[in-house]
Amino acid sequence: MHCPKCSAEMEITSYDQIKVDRCTNCKGLWFQPEELAALRNDIWMADYILDEGDAKVGKKYNQIVAIQCPECGVAMKQEFDAEQPHIIYESCPDGHGTYLDAGEFTDIVHKTFWDKFKRS
Ligand SMILES: [Zn+2]
Ligand SMILES: [Zn+2]
Repeated sequence: MHCPKCSAEMEITSYDQIKVDRCTNCKGLWFQPEELAALRNDIWMADYILDEGDAKVGKKYNQIVAIQCPECGVAMKQEFDAEQPHIIYESCPDGHGTYLDAGEFTDIVHKTFWDKFKRS
């Protein structure tokens, strides 16, 4: 599979039972819908392992919005994160997955973690 943003090869990286595709160049992450849901709710350490890219690089690639689903080639649609609307990511309208630029997953997970911390 190739990165929808920079066309470099994606490699499979895994955390626990969950496998995620990560770009070897820009370090963007491709999540299947159920993987993202599982990771953001349960495993707050996952970002250190999966999201190893530079957030500055991620910000640059975040400007690229006209991308196609790496699995089906359909134009992806932009979505704002429900909890953190400053985080914008691209999802396949046919439900193949979601693309997060480097640093965005860390951002999402940290919010979740601090929320839990505040509640407890
Ligand atoms: Zn890339
Ligand atoms: Zn697709």
